[in-house]
Amino acid sequence: MNHRIIAERTEPGGSTIKEWHMVRSGEGKPMCGRSIDLSETELPADAWGTERAMPFCHTCGALYLREVP
Ligand SMILES: [Zn+2]
Repeated sequence: MNHRIIAERTEPGGSTIKEWHMVRSGEGKPMCGRSIDLSETELPADAWGTERAMPFCHTCGALYLREVP
């Protein structure tokens, strides 16, 4: 299954990233179920666990861990 990482900002259009969420391809919201703007900054799934994708949503991280080998 393919995933992508989407940024959630502290405010719409703001420069500060609150946290990153994992979104399954084809789904309209992140794995944690939060409502975020999917047109926001995106990272490839392999950025998970790296500096680039910090801070990361704890719920998304836990669920993602169970899906990847
Ligand atoms: Zn999340």
